[in-house]
Amino acid sequence: MNKNSSNIMALAPNTSNKRETVCIFGTGDFGRALGHKMIQSGYPVVFGSRSTQTSSLIPKGAEVLSHAEAAQKAAVIITAIQRQHYNFLTPLTEILHGKVLVDVSNNLKINEHPESNAEYLAQLVPGAKVVKAFNTVSAWALQSGTLDASRQVFVCGDDMEAKQMVMNIVRALGLTPLDQGSLLAAQEIENYPLQLFPMWKFPILLSFGLAAFFFFYCLIRNVIYPYVYENKDFSFFIAISIPNRICPILALILLALVYLPGVLAAIIQLYRGTKYHRFPDWLDKWMLCRKQLGLVALAFASLHVLYTLVIPIRYFVRWRMSNQIISQVLNNKTGPLDTTNAWLSDSYVALGILGFFLFVLLGITSLPSVSNNVNWREFRFVQSKLGYLTLILCTAHTLVYGGKRFLSPSSYRWYLPNAYMLSLIIPCMVLVVKFVLIFPCLDKPLTRIRQGWERNPQYSE
Ligand code: NAP
Repeated sequence: MNKNSSNIMALAPNTSNKRETVCIFGTGDFGRALGHKMIQSGYPVVFGSRSTQTSSLIPKGAEVLSHAEAAQKAAVIITAIQRQHYNFLTPLTEILHGKVLVDVSNNLKINEHPESNAEYLAQLVPGAKVVKAFNTVSAWALQSGTLDASRQVFVCGDDMEAKQMVMNIVRALGLTPLDQGSLLAAQEIENYPLQLFPMWKFPILLSFGLAAFFFFYCLIRNVIYPYVYENKDFSFFIAISIPNRICPILALILLALVYLPGVLAAIIQLYRGTKYHRFPDWLDKWMLCRKQLGLVALAFASLHVLYTLVIPIRYFVRWRMSNQIISQVLNNKTGPLDTTNAWLSDSYVALGILGFFLFVLLGITSLPSVSNNVNWREFRFVQSKLGYLTLILCTAHTLVYGGKRFLSPSSYRWYLPNAYMLSLIIPCMVLVVKFVLIFPCLDKPLTRIRQGWERNPQYSE
């Protein structure tokens, strides 16, 4: 075996426009899909396989050789093989010396092994320049060409030149390489495809919990109570009335929860007199999922709008209205126009419409395609100033809905207040504390703290 020839090939500079041969170990799903894409992009591909027989599955134009023969033909070798089979590489250590060895593997569980697969590979083949890449792209996406969702390829490795070679290949395939640094980052990159909506877990679990709580709360107040005391069957409320109560309640609470951590962080910074102490973990995590909380809140607000739009065609509503009209006709009298009620009703609807409009605007600006096109100040203006305005409008919408009913004893069934009253607690708290924080005696020191000033500097000169 000619060891020197393989080493010369290892990092020879590319002097022509012709693409260099790439070797792929493994003719499995991923190896074939990657090979297919590489051939399309103009790379000569040679597969290293346990069986050198070609089949119709192998991409047209690719060669299939033994591992040793294939490795000798290329400077970059991609190991499209599961980690548990990496032992077969040990006898190839000499051939792989100085070559770029790309680890594409994933695990079945987060942090499955003490070291990342790429670090394990680097230990097995000490002379090779191991680079981690491609693990976030699926074989299906490579083959079908629908790569919009996974165009980004995280790349990491200890050898800069080797990393550059892999990033050039990534670019040539029409993907976007993202340099994640040294091989130490491989564990995180390997964990990435295994995460299941990490930022969505808390908002979704919280909204499920709140939805269940308010469902039973409304069920007791609006279905069980009238059944027990008035023998009336309002069980059909479960279909539209109760969901239309729960949705706005959840939208308002979740929207307030988007702004609550910011208010808590401000209080903590003011109390500590510095921004250089870490927030508690729970607050850090909460802050990181504010966007998701806001989007879940927007989803509930949209459902509330839909449920509200169908109110006029509901049988119960039509029955109640015609009953009122008939009773007025029978009694031969019409009630006078109550302008206070008309004001309350119109203001309630107007606040709801404006609140929802701003809510949608907030949702749109949080989309990456939009947020990438505004600068930091514009983004802050929308998310903070317009966000608080949305919270004010939605809270006012709920307060006006309550109107005169807040103090009415009929609003308290079995001593339970109306559900919307509960929904006002957190938003009102957030708005009151935010209002207090705007006062110059608190706002000025807070702004200074956020610019780096410390009340008791830890490292004084
Ligand atoms: P696969 O279909 O099971 O193919 C693995 C290939 O490894 C086999 O076809 C075989 O190729 C080779 N192999 C199997 N046992 C071997 C052994 N004892 N010694 C040497 N070679 C052996 O798996 P895959 O889906 O292509 O995945 C390959 C790697 O890519 C995995 O590490 C996976 O985590 C990673 N990956 C896969 C995807 C995907 O969408 N599938 C996405 C990202 C990353 P030969 O028969 O030619 O020797």
